[in-house]
Amino acid sequence: MYHKIGSPPLGTRFRGLYLPTWLLERQLCEWKLAGWASARFEDFIEAGTPMRRQICLTFDDGYASVHQEALPLLRGQGFQAIVFLVADRIGGSNDWDVVIGEKPTALMDRVQIEEWMQAGQEIGGHTLSHPSLVRLTPSEALREIVDGKKKLEDLFGRSIDHFSYPYGDWNPRIRDFVAEAGYRTACTVERGVNGPGADPFLLRRIMACRPPRTLRTLFGLMPG
Ligand SMILES: [Zn+2]
Repeated sequence: MYHKIGSPPLGTRFRGLYLPTWLLERQLCEWKLAGWASARFEDFIEAGTPMRRQICLTFDDGYASVHQEALPLLRGQGFQAIVFLVADRIGGSNDWDVVIGEKPTALMDRVQIEEWMQAGQEIGGHTLSHPSLVRLTPSEALREIVDGKKKLEDLFGRSIDHFSYPYGDWNPRIRDFVAEAGYRTACTVERGVNGPGADPFLLRRIMACRPPRTLRTLFGLMPG
């Protein structure tokens, strides 16, 4: 699980959400050397059995740095990833972070997202405006989930099947809304790997962040 790629600007509070480009490159090289390949969420759902040496790479929010910094590396190493987009903020910035003191950061625009998809990469839903869904009324939460999916489908002309909860915030009702909206999977920010019995609407992830020794931790968590 990744957020922003590159160096954080001065004064940035959530430095851990940034992964230096060189470290992403190193991680991808290490995955590849260790014989790992990327998988689509589709593969995960349909496999029914644990997938050996396969990993789903996810980027939340759709920062322009993912297009600029990560896409060439993914291409170069032959990896597949999914970026979870905030449907009402395409070509805009992370205003949901700015209100809590974070620096404004550019999000991918429509052309960049088209290029991302043309390169064989996937897109998924991350609501309309990046609220904490558990703090909304049920009808507001449902609108964020359903309309966010529809807006991406209308914009990009493809089915949007995978979702990521903003801030990782979910509860049983929100989980059911996501399933009822027609999504096929949803990612939390709870740490861990997903075995065969995993709820596809409560998938665990591992944050790939600083410091570099996290790499060893990542490998240590993975089934061989
Ligand atoms: Zn997010």
